[in-house]
Amino acid sequence: ILEIEGVHKRFGQNEVLKGIDLKVSAGEVVALIGSSGSGKTTLLRCVNLLEEFEAGAIRIDGQAIGYRSEGGRRIRLREKAIAAQRAMTGMAFQSFNLFPHLTAAGNVMLGLTKVRGMKRDEARALAEQWLGRVGLAERRDHYPSQLSGGQQQRVAIARAIAMNPKLMLFDEPTSALDPELVNEVLAVIKGLADDGMTMLLVTHEMRFAREVADRIIFMNEGRIAEDGPPEKIFTRPDSERLAAFLSRGG
Ligand code: ATP
Repeated sequence: ILEIEGVHKRFGQNEVLKGIDLKVSAGEVVALIGSSGSGKTTLLRCVNLLEEFEAGAIRIDGQAIGYRSEGGRRIRLREKAIAAQRAMTGMAFQSFNLFPHLTAAGNVMLGLTKVRGMKRDEARALAEQWLGRVGLAERRDHYPSQLSGGQQQRVAIARAIAMNPKLMLFDEPTSALDPELVNEVLAVIKGLADDGMTMLLVTHEMRFAREVADRIIFMNEGRIAEDGPPEKIFTRPDSERLAAFLSRGG
């Protein structure tokens, strides 16, 4: 469902992605791990078209995203086309990015009415359904400031999923949370994985990666250094880099 081919990305002199090739099949859950600065977040942001990339291609469901070629030249699509393609993926960030002036239900409804053109009652029903799904049926009329971090993140996940994305992207969804709130968010993500949602997630929680992911990608200095099932990656790493990374606790 997702194909990344030869993706290169630099910030000025700093080459952050040095040729990434990665295929994710429908229903697969792939966790990106690696040291700070290895390019995990940048790769996720390229898939979501929040970053431009200089070379390579990303396809979702066979459709090249972000660029078209014209007479051998690579041209960035216009913002409207980018926005339409961005809607193929849902993203949950470290900071939850909820609208503070909207209730939990209002946050989930916004994209449904504004982007999908859904009627308000229909959007409300769907929002309530998804808030129930993440265990927040009772909190639907609360504002973000009245919710815990874990609850806010669950609203953000419900908001993304309600848009029916082909692929969910998670960027360290639990790293801003107090330890006692981490599990409720991980449980929601695990539930979605069990339901067959395709997911690409960046995480520093090795225990979680091991539990939820079908496949682990270890990134090192802008390249994919290892790619394998959790059992292999965590118990029989091929490289010293990965062994050292794991022994530091991720
Ligand atoms: P972390 O685990 O700390 O989130 P990461 O593996 O996700 O790290 P990235 O956030 O992708 O790494 O960052 C990779 C490199 O790109 C870093 O050296 C970072 O400083 C640089 N970088 C990221 N975003 C920008 C930006 N907007 N402008 C300039 N440099 C950036």
